[in-house]
Amino acid sequence: MKRFFITGGAGFIGGNFILNLMKSNPEIVVNYDKLTYAGNLDTLSSVENDPNYIFVQGDICDREKLTQLFESHKIDCVVHFAAESHVDRSIDSPGDFIQTNVVGTFELLEAARWYIGEKKIPRKDFRFLHVSTDEVYGSLGETGLFTEETPYAPNSPYAASKASSDHLVRSYHKTFGLPVLTTNCSNNYGPYQFPEKLLPLMINNALNGQSLPIYGDGKQVRDWLFVEDHCKAILEVLGKGEIGQVYNIGGHNEKANLEVVHTLCEILDELVPDSKFRPHKNLIQYVTDRPGHDRRYAIDASKIQNQLGWKPQESFETGLRKTVLWYLDNKDWVSRVMSGAYQGERLGLTKP
Ligand code: NAD
Repeated sequence: MKRFFITGGAGFIGGNFILNLMKSNPEIVVNYDKLTYAGNLDTLSSVENDPNYIFVQGDICDREKLTQLFESHKIDCVVHFAAESHVDRSIDSPGDFIQTNVVGTFELLEAARWYIGEKKIPRKDFRFLHVSTDEVYGSLGETGLFTEETPYAPNSPYAASKASSDHLVRSYHKTFGLPVLTTNCSNNYGPYQFPEKLLPLMINNALNGQSLPIYGDGKQVRDWLFVEDHCKAILEVLGKGEIGQVYNIGGHNEKANLEVVHTLCEILDELVPDSKFRPHKNLIQYVTDRPGHDRRYAIDASKIQNQLGWKPQESFETGLRKTVLWYLDNKDWVSRVMSGAYQGERLGLTKP
């Protein structure tokens, strides 16, 4: 695979993926992104002048534009990140999630189906990798892990829209033979994450002496994965994954939200010794829980580990330290998001 079409490449994971991918000298990388509030081209400033990188602003619901781009750039690999991705927003405004995550994925699949049919591209020479989430599986009790066979039981409009897109992707393989791969990954964290998600929000609030809002009792458990490990897993699945298969990706790092924030506060206390907000844990404040908040997610990643040889390189402690250092070293990136300069408007972000 040498000619990539990346949807949602201006977002958190897509941006990290492109920065990694550019190091492997691909023939072409087309970053196709609508630039919603979550799309930030600042992330890609280091590659924007690379002759093998092209940014195209567009909506995945625009099938005609997609097919034109597949043809003109002779695409052989689609990696589909574009989505509405924030659970809180899916509660406030579910329609956007259905439009992008369900209808958009359908249009992208149709565009790919038309393109490989029209151009008679052999299945072995094309890949459509759909990036999905562990949230499609619902919530676990105290024990157990999500495997690729766990029945779907999405609990938020976000999770339901991702589950729908997963089913569409599967059906395009079963019905039309489209060479698809699906990955379901746990919570990511790392550089370039939009500061509405838990970790960047907490880092930013703590550095500014603002409260650190914890939903409910803070005992919701997530399986945390450093974003670069996720990007490497996607490359392994693209290179070695079996067409039509699903691969769960997780970090073996189950942590309750409260524990995550406590660890973060300790790292900040150490790395910012002259902060007037030390100890940062004093900024923690409990707020009303999110409706339908899943209690526990945990991934069984043994399939990708045993079959493709992938395993995460970062522990939660090393990954979190790298993440905090990145936010400390890149205050401009954060302040351009917070001021709205990256998009020309001001956003009032306060919720986790
Ligand atoms: P993000 O919200 O940071 O980025 C999404 C990107 O998609 C943005 O650049 C946005 O502009 C773009 N986009 C949105 N609607 C679009 C449309 N209609 N057409 C074209 N572009 C559009 O998301 P993220 O955290 O980087 O997640 C990327 C993917 O990974 C998503 O599919 C998400 O479901 C999945 N995922 C995320 C996590 C996580 O922890 N963040 C975990 C597992 C899976």
